[in-house]
Amino acid sequence: MSSLVGAIAIARSQVDAIVAHARAGAPDEVCGVVAVRDGSVVSVIATRNAAATPRNRFEIDVRDLMRIVEVEREGLDVGFYHSHPVSVAYPSATDIGFAELWPGALQLMVSLRHDLPGEIGPEFHAYRIFPPRVDVVAIAIDEGR
Ligand SMILES: [Zn+2]
Repeated sequence: MSSLVGAIAIARSQVDAIVAHARAGAPDEVCGVVAVRDGSVVSVIATRNAAATPRNRFEIDVRDLMRIVEVEREGLDVGFYHSHPVSVAYPSATDIGFAELWPGALQLMVSLRHDLPGEIGPEFHAYRIFPPRVDVVAIAIDEGR
């Protein structure tokens, strides 16, 4: 199935952890690092958002940059996640700019724009960005983990 080439596997508990971080940080954006092995997310690491305008930007705090190094030292692929409290879970121009530093890295995004009682809930999407190109990555959520 060519439509699944490049799909990423992630555990429900990992999705829940990212959504919980996003909700706790709202109305600011939150961000974090993910470690990926062979197309599967193996860990989710919350980091601090040091952006001057965190309502619509994220910037991983320098105190947390070591987490990226740790993932690399373990021989894993570095990916990222961040939230959009009020906008769609699609990379902004700023996000595409960030990806200049990490072309092709997994970028998980959660939007809380419909995360209200009676609405559809958080939206969760994955991308790989090769600036300026944005590739949508299919997500396979393992409900049992
Ligand atoms: Zn963004």
